[in-house]
Amino acid sequence: MDHFHYLNGELCCEGVSLRAIADSAGTPAYVYSKAALLENLAAYDRAFASVPHLVCYAVKANSNLGVLATLARAGAGADIVSGGELHRALRAGVPPQKITFAGVGKTREEMREALKAEILVFNVESASELAALNETAQASGVRAPVAVRVNPGVDSDTHPYIATGMKTAKFGIPIAEAVRVYEEAAGMPGISVIGVQMHIGSQLTKTSPFADAVARLAELVLTLRTVGIDVRLVDVGGGLGIQYKDEVPPSPDAYASVLLPALRPLGVVVLLEPGRSIVGNAGVLVTRALYRRVSAEKTFVIVDAGMNDLIRPALYGAYHEIRPVLEAGRRRPGETVDVVGPICESGDFLARDRELPRVEEDDLLAVMSSGAYGFAMASNYNARPRAAEILVDDRRYTIVRRRETYEDLVAGESLP
Ligand SMILES: *Cc1c(COP(=O)(O)O)cnc(C)c1O
Repeated sequence: MDHFHYLNGELCCEGVSLRAIADSAGTPAYVYSKAALLENLAAYDRAFASVPHLVCYAVKANSNLGVLATLARAGAGADIVSGGELHRALRAGVPPQKITFAGVGKTREEMREALKAEILVFNVESASELAALNETAQASGVRAPVAVRVNPGVDSDTHPYIATGMKTAKFGIPIAEAVRVYEEAAGMPGISVIGVQMHIGSQLTKTSPFADAVARLAELVLTLRTVGIDVRLVDVGGGLGIQYKDEVPPSPDAYASVLLPALRPLGVVVLLEPGRSIVGNAGVLVTRALYRRVSAEKTFVIVDAGMNDLIRPALYGAYHEIRPVLEAGRRRPGETVDVVGPICESGDFLARDRELPRVEEDDLLAVMSSGAYGFAMASNYNARPRAAEILVDDRRYTIVRRRETYEDLVAGESLP
């Protein structure tokens, strides 16, 4: 989080004060650091430099065009999960040959769009999807490049909503059935088998689940070669955690050092699909305190950002550090508060029972580590226009998504 620091008494993103951004762009506002994005991407490229590899940034973590274009210009590809994300990735300038298409529920229309764009690979998650893709590709007179998403059956020790590698998850083909599915795929005229893929969960803070899973994947690649299916691409998914509070997630270097011993001997191209670890700590949500409400039981700080802007606390009980934007605010006496939004739901909180220096009305607060699964999961619930998004580059910044207007809210609707 080095790109967010106090300078001249104000919390800044790189060389720009968050107070200055709030004054001109209003609140709530997401603010991203370009330098942080590029450093996080570069850390993966350095860690995997000794093998042919491609970092396909997981678009679902933050699909803003400014973020995508920044990463694409630095050489990243994109891991997409929908036709909408394909549209965004192409619009941002991601070359189609660097796009992987994941997800358990691709429609035939989405398959056609991705085939037309000539993407790198489809990560196929079930035998029925494989059959549908075969038909769709044949009807378009092409072969679809495919990696089968294998579920290695490991417990990734993360929040149950974001664990995807256990045997009970809806994702991927159980590894025991994989060879049969590959043999089926290899015989399909509309399919070209090129790889194998896994993704075992998100916000993983240990390397051992990755090590277990990649060992199983490597074994599968060797088995496939014995039956004449030569897999040339191994996609290890995303999932590396970030520090929200006191977690100590592995660095990309540590991550590479557990994966590469299994991958290097295979002589394959390694695909990586990090999302959170690229963008999570590169962004904050800036919000303004509206009111204080003090009762006998609790003190509430009511702010202008709600669960529609950042749903992670409500959805996962996630922790986000909250910092005062004015450094002087850090020296006030502490109190235990709930920081809550304006939404009509008791689940609408950004922090609960949090010890914070006293927050006064009109104070600006920064909700840290909000770059991933923040704006991307935002909604218009309570008819709230979605926040502005700002990308900082050194001393300058660009509003990469303007705040929505009331007219935006009703665009597309009509009276009966
Ligand atoms: C969500 C997802 C990712 C990215 O996960 P992070 O935890 O954000 O790194 C990568 N690949 C697939 C298939 C995903 O579903």
